[in-house]
Amino acid sequence: MKLLEHEGLRLLSEAGIPVPSFIVVKSPEEAERAASRIGLPVVLKAQVLVGGRGKAGGVKVVESLEAARRVASELLGSRIRGEIVEELLVAEVVEHVEELYLSIIVDRASNSHLVLASRMGGIDVEELSKNHPEALVRVSIDPLTGLRDWHTRIILKRLGLSSPAGDRLRGIIKSLYNVYTHYNCDLAEINPLSLKSDGELVALDAKVIVDDNAARVRGLKLGREVGAESEASKLGLNYVELDGEIGIVCNGAGLTMATMDLVNSLGGRPACFLDLGGGATAELVYKALKLLSERPHVKVVFLNVLAGITRCDEVAAGVVRIYDELGGAKKIVVRLVGTNEDEGRRILESRGISYFTRMLDAAQEAVKLAS
Ligand code: GDP
Ligand code: MN
Repeated sequence: MKLLEHEGLRLLSEAGIPVPSFIVVKSPEEAERAASRIGLPVVLKAQVLVGGRGKAGGVKVVESLEAARRVASELLGSRIRGEIVEELLVAEVVEHVEELYLSIIVDRASNSHLVLASRMGGIDVEELSKNHPEALVRVSIDPLTGLRDWHTRIILKRLGLSSPAGDRLRGIIKSLYNVYTHYNCDLAEINPLSLKSDGELVALDAKVIVDDNAARVRGLKLGREVGAESEASKLGLNYVELDGEIGIVCNGAGLTMATMDLVNSLGGRPACFLDLGGGATAELVYKALKLLSERPHVKVVFLNVLAGITRCDEVAAGVVRIYDELGGAKKIVVRLVGTNEDEGRRILESRGISYFTRMLDAAQEAVKLAS
């Protein structure tokens, strides 16, 4: 799970890494109040998960309360690279003389962790490694031994950073490594890590990708709904996000995979899939269908049930409920066979809801409707 900037900054701060003072807001009035509490000038930053917000106009410094309110109202509700801005970070502006780059990532090629550091921060690491590879320090860490003092010594030496900034960076690398291992991260990145004229370092941005299970075990509390995965996990279901158009709901992992394959082979693209497991109640079927139908990228929901312990009448009742609620706003293709099949079909027919019995026919219909 990818964290928003303010969530990432909070983890960094808890680990002892200096971050600017900030307040998260959802309205222009709150932005103005936050700006006055923090003290002008402040920087307003769109809280979206896509990178490159700066270039896309999602990071704005404002000098007055009036500007804070105006710029906040422009940013809130707008789209940054397709993602709607629902929250802003109002942060203290940190004057700095240099921008560094620091991250730790999983390096699958070498089965190790990789620390990346550079004195050319502010630009993204892809660009950095492509256009200025000489300016990017890469140090591998064996997961069995972990981060050692000699790792940080090599990094400081190659960066040519001396005290007091060097000492501070050493501490920040250790703290970042702690965050990274604590949450089993795929990525923990600070870009830019700003260097102030007095040698102090402050993390101005945070990109953190935590492992969902580690986050759960570690009790990571996020003050927001964290997407469909967590909604589904609250229902005790497994949800997987993909990038196509057809949302797939089945009962059982085997049928789910077979349905994905069939949709793919017919030229359709799954948007996500959700496994209802065995014995789903009408309530659960309804909630699962609701969750998928609310995903913006899902054009068609494809429910494929081969009932064993599950009962078709329960499934049908869930389908009826979502039909009533959506009123045709999203297309749902139903294939239903198995236990209590006759009763299930009777329920659907009595409401004029069409269904398929053959999986192939249903999949073809879903692909057709999605294209
Ligand atoms: P990104 O474009 O999504 O990576 O967003 P960042 O948070 O990294 O912001 C983009 C750029 O805005 C940074 O590289 C900084 O140069 C600048 N910036 C962000 N926050 C501050 C701040 O508090 N003070 C100053 N002076 N610049 C900032
Ligand atoms: Mn950044």
